[in-house]
Amino acid sequence: MSRPEDRAERHKKRMQVRKEIVDAGVAKALEERGVVVLYTGDGKGKTTAAVGTAARALGYGYRVVVAQFIKGAWECGEKNLLGRLPPEQFPLQWHEMGTDFTWETQDFEADRAAARALWDRALAALRDDSVYLVVLDELTYALNYHWLDRDEVLEALSQRPPGQSVVITGRGARQYLKDAADTVTEMRALKHAFDDGIAARKGVEW
Ligand code: ATP
Ligand code: MG
Repeated sequence: MSRPEDRAERHKKRMQVRKEIVDAGVAKALEERGVVVLYTGDGKGKTTAAVGTAARALGYGYRVVVAQFIKGAWECGEKNLLGRLPPEQFPLQWHEMGTDFTWETQDFEADRAAARALWDRALAALRDDSVYLVVLDELTYALNYHWLDRDEVLEALSQRPPGQSVVITGRGARQYLKDAADTVTEMRALKHAFDDGIAARKGVEW
């Protein structure tokens, strides 16, 4: 058994090495610009993380625009909360597609029209340099269903104001979207309560 002093010394050395690595990384990160963050994969947490980022930006008083590309007709707790913030202090706009899930409406043209209308609002935000953060929730579906033109979306992302960041979510992001993003996180489902027959929980799933 090692003595507590030895352990403390070893821990200190390890921390010193780690600090040097972190400091070297920080010293290299000199570029100041907005980023595109992509949350994809089958695991739970993508929209939660995106809305958490919106809360983070709003907390500094930055202007935030959220566009949700699939679940417009759905209630969600975070919208109830953030929608009640005083807009002068916390400037948030929350846009929705206003249709139900596609497998319920089963009307391609109606879905596409709703997605295009929402995209026009997102595009206005992506061209507005007073908007600090744009959240494009479930955008991958709109792209994968070909409701939106992929090149138009990629161009809007690359032409956005330099200080603006974008968070994109949705399962099944294609490689071109991963390439366009600066930060890509794939949520992997190790387990989900739903698969054990447990109903989606208000305040946890939505
Ligand atoms: P959340 O909104 O909880 O952050 P998400 O955005 O990662 O999840 P989506 O793929 O958008 O998940 O799924 C929509 C709904 O399905 C949400 O209510 C979410 O909580 C739930 N969900 C997410 N992952 C799974 C899964 N692996 N199995 C079953 N339901 C899931
Ligand atoms: Mg989601």
